[in-house]
Amino acid sequence: MSKGFTLWFTGLSGAGKTTLTNAVLPQLRERGVKVEVLDGDEVRTNLSKGLGFSKEDRDTNIQRIGYVARLLSRNGVGVIAAAISPYREIRDDVRRGIQADGAAFVEIYVKASLETLIARDVKGLYRKALAGEIKQFTGVSDPYEEPINPELVIDSDRETVAQGVAKIIAALERLGLFASAQGVRVTI
Ligand code: ADP
Repeated sequence: MSKGFTLWFTGLSGAGKTTLTNAVLPQLRERGVKVEVLDGDEVRTNLSKGLGFSKEDRDTNIQRIGYVARLLSRNGVGVIAAAISPYREIRDDVRRGIQADGAAFVEIYVKASLETLIARDVKGLYRKALAGEIKQFTGVSDPYEEPINPELVIDSDRETVAQGVAKIIAALERLGLFASAQGVRVTI
């Protein structure tokens, strides 16, 4: 069985976590990796339904995502988690748990300036947050703690989606996470 891993995307809303997830997913499957996605927005409608955006609820949400990611990645699955996950301590807890079970944890900081995010405003949330209609909005009225030593930083202000995906694949190759899957790959 190939070694499982968790790709943990962290970054502000609209930075590109979901976009990169969707773009990298087929490339992982093509390499024979079994993949599951835990997307923050989707998790909040099922696994974390009812949780709000206080620090306590945000931490609970991340603990739940981390718990599922741990169960899956220790069984050889490649997990992609895409959630803002603003607090460093809880991300590091998730990292320790996954690594303790022998799987790899790859933290990817998807970075974008607030100016870019306000200009993009894909979900219309920044306009509302800046107008005070949404409270506790990460990056505007709630903290975001940048990763200190992530495995990868993707600057979506400057890099294209394709460049971001190429960096992720290269990082996984460097970490030896495709080794066994590639061993059984057949090229025709
Ligand atoms: P998040 O999941 O972080 O909230 P989304 O992926 O939903 O963010 O939205 C990111 C938006 O930014 C999308 O509309 C995407 O097309 C755009 N975008 C522009 N450049 C990039 C890039 N280099 N990487 C990722 N997304 C980008």
